[in-house]
Amino acid sequence: MGKYYCNSDSSDRCEPLDVKPSPIASSYNERIRPVLDAVENLRRLNITKEGIQLPTIVVVGDQSSGKSSVLESLAGISLPRGQGICTRVPLIMRLQNHPLPKPELVLEFDGTTVSTDEENVSDAINTATEELAGNAKGISNTPLTLLVKKNGVPDLTMVDLPGITRVPVHGQPEDIYDQIKDIIMEYIRPEESIILNVLSATVDFATCESIRMSQTVDKTGDRTLAVVTKADKAPEGLLEKVTADDVNIGLGYVSVRNRIGDESYEEAREEEARLFESHPLLSKIDKSIVGVPVLAQKLVQIQAASISKILPEIVKKINEKLSSNLSELEKLPKVLTSVEEAMTALMQIIGLAKESLRKILLVGEFDEYPDEKQMHCTARVVEMLNQYSNDLNGCTESDSTKDFLMDELKVLEEAKLIGLPNFTPHTAFLTLLKYKVNGISSMPVGFIDKVWNYLETVVVSVLMHHSEHYHQLQSSSRRSGQSLIAKMKENSIKHVKEIVEMEKLTDYTCSPEYMVEYNKLIAQQTSFFYQALEKQLSRLNLEGIGEIEVSHSLLRKYPLMLEQAFDLKMRMTAYWKIVLRRLIDNIALHLQFSINNLVNKDLAKEVVADLLSSHGGGIERLLEESPSVAAKRDMLTRSIKLLRESKSVVATIMDKISSYGD
Ligand code: GDP
Ligand code: MG
Repeated sequence: MGKYYCNSDSSDRCEPLDVKPSPIASSYNERIRPVLDAVENLRRLNITKEGIQLPTIVVVGDQSSGKSSVLESLAGISLPRGQGICTRVPLIMRLQNHPLPKPELVLEFDGTTVSTDEENVSDAINTATEELAGNAKGISNTPLTLLVKKNGVPDLTMVDLPGITRVPVHGQPEDIYDQIKDIIMEYIRPEESIILNVLSATVDFATCESIRMSQTVDKTGDRTLAVVTKADKAPEGLLEKVTADDVNIGLGYVSVRNRIGDESYEEAREEEARLFESHPLLSKIDKSIVGVPVLAQKLVQIQAASISKILPEIVKKINEKLSSNLSELEKLPKVLTSVEEAMTALMQIIGLAKESLRKILLVGEFDEYPDEKQMHCTARVVEMLNQYSNDLNGCTESDSTKDFLMDELKVLEEAKLIGLPNFTPHTAFLTLLKYKVNGISSMPVGFIDKVWNYLETVVVSVLMHHSEHYHQLQSSSRRSGQSLIAKMKENSIKHVKEIVEMEKLTDYTCSPEYMVEYNKLIAQQTSFFYQALEKQLSRLNLEGIGEIEVSHSLLRKYPLMLEQAFDLKMRMTAYWKIVLRRLIDNIALHLQFSINNLVNKDLAKEVVADLLSSHGGGIERLLEESPSVAAKRDMLTRSIKLLRESKSVVATIMDKISSYGD
């Protein structure tokens, strides 16, 4: 016997009920009703949507084994039945014992509710089925719910599922078997499901597909009850079949005889009672395992036991879900209802954005973006600066070995003037300097442009991040970030261009390094001329310059200007180092200064100015909530309400259950 059986101390509850066509309901039903109602409420609250499974009796069986007939017998109403495929969608049947003069039947599907009666329920189900699964022979997984309130029915909720067919009949899709199997498995897989396996007495149970399926999810059979139908058709050997239990049915077997043909429900019960009472073979089967009333009683008890067993788990799950939803709701930004609140929120966003930017742009703290290398700005900017320095030092203008003395000689020739020949004319130096600075002038501008482009992505992303819950602020934030950077960039470019122009205009340094370097270089003059002119070497090495190629034709062409040219070259080489260093240091300091201003001064001003401008829409815009946040808040609020209701529903049942002990 299965674990869902009633306690041995309350054996009276297990007695087969009066088999006359009288109400199946007993006092036991009166006690189980509130529990069932509560579970029904949970079901109606759609708590399964929250990932909480409810105990359900799932009716499975091969096609035409008598599933619908069994439900019909339990409910005392006519369901569509017969040969071929009749049940094409899951039918959730809720039976409620109710002292009504006339039964009440309500069909619910896809959000619609249809009232019906016993005469028309069959047609109503067929119509609804056609609506859900088409008028061919296809099936669908959208359930129909049939509420039956009737005097004398057992309080049960069961799901009737399409029967298993191996071979598609004409008009059925090829994969009908898999479709049906998927639906059945979905319903019987949860541990909370009780499997009511409907077996026809006319077949060998071991060959039943439904047995095979239920065994894959319930190996020990602990949550499987078997109903053997058509006892009237195959009485021979039935006793042996239900007592041998070859197929592991943990909750036992109940043999029944359903309504045949045009019999009324009452007539069917009378016939059934007579059959098991008087048939020479069937009467030998123990009365505690025959007849629809016994089946009803067992199902009610199993259902109650299952619900009681599962409730603590449900309570736990509801609590978990509730607290996670509550904390998620907590994390959502507050709804802003006044200009004061909006102002505070805006200041908070600006404050947070400033703090983030201060960390990543000025201090080099990356705790907010541990894994996003792109946001490690101090490091990235230094990398760019190093690259810029390498580019400057590696460019043609910085290569002193190239066309050795050529430019110097050309410039000197053009700078000829009346005067002593051994003075190096200042104009020649300046011309050469201007020429070289012009050559590199695009590099500082390119560098500053690149840095600000990078900073734009960073600043915009930080602003967007801190305003993510305020969609009204997003476009404004993006815009103010972009326009702020554009201004900063423009200013920087102007500044850098000025620095470049200054280098062209004046040759000056107070750095003693210049003289040290120049003296070192010019000291090689005698040795250079000796090697180049006397020894006629065409390649030689100059310290501080590198290996140079000597153009003898050039040296021959300008014999008088050679010393001046060499002197000019050495001055320029020494001075160029100073120029490059200034171009790097100055710009680095300027950049740092600008970033500092951006974070500490300009950002807040710009964000506020944009929001208050005509396209910003004013501070009131903050009072509108983002549709996605609103939807999420809505969803969470509804879910929390549902869970709270469920919780109180469950709490009342728990109280009732604990009082059953008395
Ligand atoms: P389902 O496909 O599993 O839902 O099976 P149905 O409930 O539609 O029944 C298939 C056929 O078997 C119908 O013609 C029923 O009348 C018949 N049937 C069901 N139960 C019994 C029974 O206990 N005795 C007899 N003789 N026929 C039954
Ligand atoms: Mg059926």
